Amino acid sequence: MKKSVKLKITLWITGLVALLTVVLVSMALFISNYVATETIMERMESVVRGNIKHIQATDTTPVIDEEFLYYQNGISTLVYSRNGSLLAGQLPVNFKTAADFENGIIRTVESGDNKFIVLDMWLPYNLETGFWIRGISDVPDMDYLARYLLMVSAITLPVFTLLAALGSWLIIRKSFRPLDRINATAKAINEAKDLSGRINLTEGDDEFSHLADNFDDMLSRLESSFEAEKQFTADASHELRTPVAVIKSACEYGRKYDETAEEHAETLAVIGRQADKMSALINQLLSMTRMEQGTEKFTFEQLNLSETVKDFCAEADWEKYNIKVFCDEKVAVKADKALLQRLLYNLVENAVKYGREDGEISVSVTEKDNSAVLTVKDEGEGIPAEHIEKIWNRFYQADPSRNNDSSGAGLGLSIVQQIARLHGGFMTVESTVGKGSAFSLHLPLIRE
Ligand code: ADP
Repeated sequence: MKKSVKLKITLWITGLVALLTVVLVSMALFISNYVATETIMERMESVVRGNIKHIQATDTTPVIDEEFLYYQNGISTLVYSRNGSLLAGQLPVNFKTAADFENGIIRTVESGDNKFIVLDMWLPYNLETGFWIRGISDVPDMDYLARYLLMVSAITLPVFTLLAALGSWLIIRKSFRPLDRINATAKAINEAKDLSGRINLTEGDDEFSHLADNFDDMLSRLESSFEAEKQFTADASHELRTPVAVIKSACEYGRKYDETAEEHAETLAVIGRQADKMSALINQLLSMTRMEQGTEKFTFEQLNLSETVKDFCAEADWEKYNIKVFCDEKVAVKADKALLQRLLYNLVENAVKYGREDGEISVSVTEKDNSAVLTVKDEGEGIPAEHIEKIWNRFYQADPSRNNDSSGAGLGLSIVQQIARLHGGFMTVESTVGKGSAFSLHLPLIRE
């Protein structure tokens, strides 16, 4: 709590509001003081000038008419002789000083504890004689105003500060709620080591709620890849364990019960087949991992897909199968030849495995909408719709019983898809149950 961002922001806003209130009150005090002094000075000038009109200088005593205002609006006007003796008017009670006369200058004069505003004006009769007119006023009582303002601010300052603190705390707390939930979710996941927790923030459309949504998406992805990883490890070890178990029991059986050379040869054949299966599986696992981790070096070069496919199908391995090849003249793509051959091998092997006996297998290469399309088609059983999405998953087999004797473990198509993606392409499949399947690789075409 001590280091909480919420607390820091709240304290900052509260402090700022308190400071602002103090500054505003001081400014109000200063401005009202200034305005009050200015007002009294203006009034002083107009009163003293006004009175001058009602006084006439002579060589002895001034003649003052009835309209002369000795006291108006808090301003006392007095008449002095040239040497400073009071001729007319009454001094304010606390004005006990004999201030020097200064013609036309408004100034503040101190008298004991009191301050006065004073304006003198010289009313000449001739060069030698004349009279002083003096206006005196109290300095406006700012203490009263200051007391009043301080009293008001003594009430408003805590109220405003409290409101600022409360308001900012509530807003910040509400805004930070998603963060608290993210925190709690992360902690729960960490403690329970279970990735299924989600923040599930439904309300709000601010940065934090977007963060919460992204966090949830990230958790979903982490969870699914973690699950996939777990599944992969379980499947891989299961697939490896099965042939090992078969080999072990075949050895034991052979040792105990095989008597003739034929029986020995049969047991060895079983062991050999299982070893082949293991070896194929290990190779597939290795190449998948290498492709995934990018540790295998590939040489992507421009090649003619048609030529690669024709060469591949002409290999002796496939002679015994009824493979028809239809290729456009020249279909240029950028690819790693070995990877393409591996992809082709997996597709043609599947067409052989799952195709109809004596059925035709066709391999074609065409150009279609700026893409190079390689299709391997068989006349087999086809793939039921409910399996079609999943056949690309690792270790997925639509019908494992059909694969008993072969070396496959459901990795072939996921390797095919991985190879397609490595080339910036993708795979599609069309299949009709009872009629056959067609697997197509789509690659970006290179135009010369
Ligand atoms: P495997 O062949 O080792 O089982 P694959 O990944 O190559 O693994 O294929 C996954 C599954 O997809 C197969 O088990 C099979 O059910 C289905 N499949 C693949 N190719 C074909 C095909 N040409 N015809 C019918 N089903 C197929």
